[in-house]
Amino acid sequence: MWYCDGCQDTFETEKEALEHEKTCQKAIDFVKNQEEEKKLKEKIKEEEKILLEEKRQRNREAKLLLQNKILEEEKELELFTYHTMTSDNRFPYLNIYISLLKFFAVLAIFGGIVALVISADGGFGTIGFFFLIYSFFAALGILVFSEVIRLLLDFHDNNHVNTKVKIKTLKILEKISDKLDK
Ligand SMILES: [Zn+2]
Repeated sequence: MWYCDGCQDTFETEKEALEHEKTCQKAIDFVKNQEEEKKLKEKIKEEEKILLEEKRQRNREAKLLLQNKILEEEKELELFTYHTMTSDNRFPYLNIYISLLKFFAVLAIFGGIVALVISADGGFGTIGFFFLIYSFFAALGILVFSEVIRLLLDFHDNNHVNTKVKIKTLKILEKISDKLDK
């Protein structure tokens, strides 16, 4: 028994069925629909392929960009050494200023002694002694100020070392977690 694909009529032989399908509008429509469906499916497949390729391309670009960023970061970290970031290198004027302050402190005490000698020579020993004490306090004030600056510079150095240690620790942790993932 043979069926027409369109109208489902039955025929004794295949030849009869095929002959009927040539003229049966329903059978013709059925074949046409099937062909259109096939074309549509192929078109969808083609578009899916293009989209997949685009996605792959985007992923590749993102990966390259990330690698580039990591490289740049590593380059920056290489330049970011203990030596270049120490306060001695970063704040040369503050260091010069500290040296100058020490010099001024010595100068103040020396001035006080000179004032004492001159005053004692002129018979004003008490005033001269007062000058000397005053010069000691002035020198002490100058030295304290220079130490405050030193403290800030040390704080800066310590901060920098801590940051570097943190970065290195994070990198090591990253490597360990990578190994564990594998
Ligand atoms: Zn038919």
